[in-house]
Amino acid sequence: MVRAYIGLGSNQGNPAANIREALQMINEIDGLKVTGVSSLYLTEPVGYENQPWFHNCAAEVETELSPDQLLAALQGIEDFLGRVRVVRWGPRTIDLDILLYDTITVETENLTIPHPRMAERAFVIVPLAEIAGDMVSADGRTILEVRDQLTAGKKYICIPQKIW
Ligand code: ATP
Ligand code: MG
Ligand code: MG
Repeated sequence: MVRAYIGLGSNQGNPAANIREALQMINEIDGLKVTGVSSLYLTEPVGYENQPWFHNCAAEVETELSPDQLLAALQGIEDFLGRVRVVRWGPRTIDLDILLYDTITVETENLTIPHPRMAERAFVIVPLAEIAGDMVSADGRTILEVRDQLTAGKKYICIPQKIW
């Protein structure tokens, strides 16, 4: 069993419901169990701004799946929930990214772990820091250190809602 962390995001339809359904589907996959979920946050779009705000959270899972198998499982859930890729970083029903997989580094054509853009994204790091503060990012800082440096002086909207 390996511990991994997944970043979830949605800004189409009912985002909180999409995230909840994705978590349930993740938990139902053989060899995959959800062991922790962060608070839910409302976040401003980054990269492509002309779209609704996102809901984001992070989940901890225990898994017997390899990194490639985990990616395939998450992509299956994205497809099932009706994600259509139109614009890069654009609107989506659900985005499921592998943030960390144990302490392992992966660098293949289809998969980079730790997620290559997570350390610059408050919408990933703020929820992740709630459940993986002591884990180490790609540059050696802990997730808590990354969060504190990234968010100094900024506020983020936490939605008081039980997502899991
Ligand atoms: P970003 O990766 O910047 O968050 P995105 O999540 O919108 O963008 P997607 O369209 O979801 O991008 O995925 C594009 C490709 O990224 C996927 O087909 C997948 O092969 C690849 N990928 C590489 N590393 C990861 C990772 N750690 N988690 C999920 N997908 C990844
Ligand atoms: Mg993403
Ligand atoms: Mg993605």
